Amino acid sequence: MDFELTEEMRMLKEMAYKFAVAEIAPVSAECDEQEKYLPEIRKKAAENGLVGAWIPEAYGGSGAGILGNTIITEELSKIDMGIGLNIVASGFGCESILNYGTEEQKKTYLPPVCQGVQVCAGAYTEPNAGTDVSGYKTRAVKDGTDYVINGNKMFITNGTVCDFMVAQCITNPDQKKHNSFSLIIVPADAKGVTRNKLHGKMGIRASDTAEIAFEDVRVPQSNLVGKEGNGFRQLMHFFDITRVMVSGQALGLAQACLETSIKYVKERTAFGAPLGAFQITQMKLTEMAIRIEALRGLVYKAAWLIDQGKPDYTLAAMAKFYGGQTAVFCANYAVELHGGYGYIEEYPVQKWYRDAKILELYEGTKEAEIMTIGRALQAR
Ligand SMILES: Cc1cc2nc3c(=O)[nH]c(=O)nc-3n(C[C@H](O)[C@H](O)[C@H](O)COP(=O)(O)OP(=O)(O)OC[C@H]3O[C@@H](n4cnc5c(N)ncnc54)[C@H](O)[C@@H]3O)c2cc1C
Repeated sequence: MDFELTEEMRMLKEMAYKFAVAEIAPVSAECDEQEKYLPEIRKKAAENGLVGAWIPEAYGGSGAGILGNTIITEELSKIDMGIGLNIVASGFGCESILNYGTEEQKKTYLPPVCQGVQVCAGAYTEPNAGTDVSGYKTRAVKDGTDYVINGNKMFITNGTVCDFMVAQCITNPDQKKHNSFSLIIVPADAKGVTRNKLHGKMGIRASDTAEIAFEDVRVPQSNLVGKEGNGFRQLMHFFDITRVMVSGQALGLAQACLETSIKYVKERTAFGAPLGAFQITQMKLTEMAIRIEALRGLVYKAAWLIDQGKPDYTLAAMAKFYGGQTAVFCANYAVELHGGYGYIEEYPVQKWYRDAKILELYEGTKEAEIMTIGRALQAR
């Protein structure tokens, strides 16, 4: 058993962090305050091989695997989870194209994403159904050689900035719920697609989140990803991968909370001593550090297993669940350790506190992870 990162992974980690410090840190507060999405950062990230890093080189990626992509996500999230999301989720949905798409689809859609010239979104959640995937209502009906799509999607990351999306649609309503869905590629500029940016998010405000309506949207049947009726299983497989990426976000944010807090408690004094001299402070730092270390083990193992061709969806759900908890826990302590300064904009911990909560909501709520883990434990 070897817990060391390879030299290649260590270099990737260092490079991603340097990129985040140089390119993201200077605009982080402004993008948060003004809900600003900056495409140029994504393009620069792509030039550095940070976009679609998990995509094989044959399709334009850097072939760093899911572990490499998770490490990139971790490092970017140390500085700004929202801007980091714009970068690493610009290929969101492409996981299904890579795993189930035709050779032609892979060659058409994956390289432009890796080059930073196109963005893909994963459009699954609907206004009336998120956790309950079987409650999705968007329909795709065959007409000649096309599908005609009608329905609404909600909370879609990169929804207004994407060039195309992979949408979950009902194609086989006569089948049992889980056999009724299919994933279909929808160009964002197709006639009948309407996209509205959602404003006023609590955190990750630099990221783009949208509601999308499909009204008689026509796409060729060749845009089907994989087999018709297989969309639900494909989506579950997608989550096995993306939940690991999200747990990488949690890891980076939690680590930033710890490092910033350590620096602060060494400098700030009270009762004639640095805050770090008090046992209560040490306890808080210790609890943060232990949780982060445990999380890193879960996240890297879940990512590594995917790269070994042995994805473990229970472990991915555990990493996501524990990641959300750890990030929220560490952000809370970071604010507390900064006292009143933790509550004002001058320090980034207030932002991390707001950003952290999404990790318990998207890519499956923490309750959804509990359901996945609880069922898997009893099925053994
Ligand atoms: C910023 C942001 C970005 C997002 N990005 C995307 C994206 O790119 N693509 C996409 O498709 N979606 C995206 N989402 C949607 C996100 O994945 C959903 O919000 C999430 O899955 C929860 O669905 P919901 O909001 O409909 O909540 P609901 O499913 O209505 O759940 C509400 C509450 O009930 C709980 N609950 C539901 N069922 C059960 C149960 N059986 N037992 C116990 N508790 C239960 C949930 O855990 C939750 O606490 C995003 C959301 C946000 C906020």
